Amino acid sequence: MATCSCGCEAVIRTSTTRNNPGRPFYACPKKGPRSGFIRWVEEMKISPEALMIARLVNGNKILEKENLMLKIGLVCSWFIFLGIIVYKL
Ligand SMILES: [Zn+2]
Repeated sequence: MATCSCGCEAVIRTSTTRNNPGRPFYACPKKGPRSGFIRWVEEMKISPEALMIARLVNGNKILEKENLMLKIGLVCSWFIFLGIIVYKL
């Protein structure tokens, strides 16, 4: 096991990043999924299921980001449209 710098016992989480999909790592249970990283779990192998889930989660994250950007774009274009209407009146 690993111990965090804050003194608590580390938990094992699975990475969902593009570079390390499915890779298990020790993390601080008090911090968020990204900031809690301590070190990689070297003695554990990546299972094909964990790899697949991590890739799907990563793909979902990219889609969520894209979705948010499209929503922001939609709101902006709506305001530009309203601005044109008001300006023309
Ligand atoms: Zn900690």
